[in-house]
Amino acid sequence: MPRLFGTNGIRGVVNEDMNIELASNIGKAVGTFLGGKAKVVVGTDTRTSNTMLKSALTAGILSTGADVVDVGICPSPAVQYAVKSGFGNFGVIITASHNPPEFNGIKCIDTDGTELGRNKEEAIEKIYFEKNFIARAWNETGNFAENNLANHTYINGIVKCVDVDAIRKAKIKVLLDCSNGAACYTSPYLLEKLGCKVISVNAHPQGTFPGHPSEPTPENLKDTINLAKAIDARLTIVHDGDADRTIFIDQKGNYLFGDKSLALMAREVVKAKKGGLVVTPVATSLCLEDAVKAHGGKVLYTKVGAPIVARAMIEHNAVFGGEENGGMIFPEFQYCRDGGMAAAKMIEILAKTGMALSELIDSLPKYAQIKTKVECPDAKKEIALKKLVEHYRDKKVDTTDGVKIMFERAWVLVRPSGTEPIYRVYSEAEDMDKAKKLADENKKLIEEIIKSI
Ligand code: MG
Repeated sequence: MPRLFGTNGIRGVVNEDMNIELASNIGKAVGTFLGGKAKVVVGTDTRTSNTMLKSALTAGILSTGADVVDVGICPSPAVQYAVKSGFGNFGVIITASHNPPEFNGIKCIDTDGTELGRNKEEAIEKIYFEKNFIARAWNETGNFAENNLANHTYINGIVKCVDVDAIRKAKIKVLLDCSNGAACYTSPYLLEKLGCKVISVNAHPQGTFPGHPSEPTPENLKDTINLAKAIDARLTIVHDGDADRTIFIDQKGNYLFGDKSLALMAREVVKAKKGGLVVTPVATSLCLEDAVKAHGGKVLYTKVGAPIVARAMIEHNAVFGGEENGGMIFPEFQYCRDGGMAAAKMIEILAKTGMALSELIDSLPKYAQIKTKVECPDAKKEIALKKLVEHYRDKKVDTTDGVKIMFERAWVLVRPSGTEPIYRVYSEAEDMDKAKKLADENKKLIEEIIKSI
């Protein structure tokens, strides 16, 4: 059976692969999966195609007898919090996160507010491809309601999870860049409630993303960085299009890559809780592990993917988790990547420590990472990995996701791509020369192994 859901739901170009027929059939498949008896929370980001796709999806759900609660434009974590808070018992988010504006996507949310597990996605896919849809009689179709309280509920939920008094006293000057995305409806109001001095940019919702592309990379944020320097902001917060992620810029205008802010947050959470487990994918920097262990915490590595991290956190009762792309998960609030919580928690750290963000980052262990790739025909991928493990039989090897070989304060990770005939090769060491040497040596080794098969 072909797959419909990728690692981030279903994505495509609007009116090409992401069209109203697809949206309506996914609505029918979701409603049928739920037995035609559920209350489905539906929310969108700010993309120009949001109403078109939402209408088609809603029609599909209603035709099965399930009800729809339309929460309007919300960050993905606000939709997830609405489901968790009982606005409904299932959720669908229409968003393509950080992709270009011509894209859109559909993502399903389980009853507990987490992203739907793979087994349930497969059940929906099966219904979708077999077109075994429930179609109710004229007097049994679902009910439709609008509810505009999801963003409000989300903001209040976050405020309860941080030390508001400490933050208000610190009166931190924050530059906020909403990337013209869903955060426009939440983060300015959240920061205002926290007593920050907020200067916002790209804070009007516009699905063409006129300010900059919705992926918060250093290249896309040049203007924001210049503004941060010009106005002397103590902290700059940037969200991606659906605000499940947050990227930070320090008081000097330095862009912080997600692995740094993740390690800092993990350290501060473990320090405050005097220990605990942090969950993160295998590609995350040793910087996080060192910082967490130094304060009595432990790290559990998982396969790459936020839903996998979230589920492992639930299973192992973790205190924190996240990914190196700026996605952070705070279990005291909800088990999903949460850009609003990440922003509030970072402000709390600055308020409570009284330190500058650059000082906090400088106090973290330093590592350098290299990302490269090796071509490999799909047919050889599995056997080549086995041979790589054999080659390193005397070393500590982690096969959670691909093959990760541990060296002294360094590692190499070889992961087969799911979509291309390549391996992704990541290496990390204490400095760039060592990381490069490790990457080069292992690239050569894998190429020799592939040739020998
Ligand atoms: Mg996103």
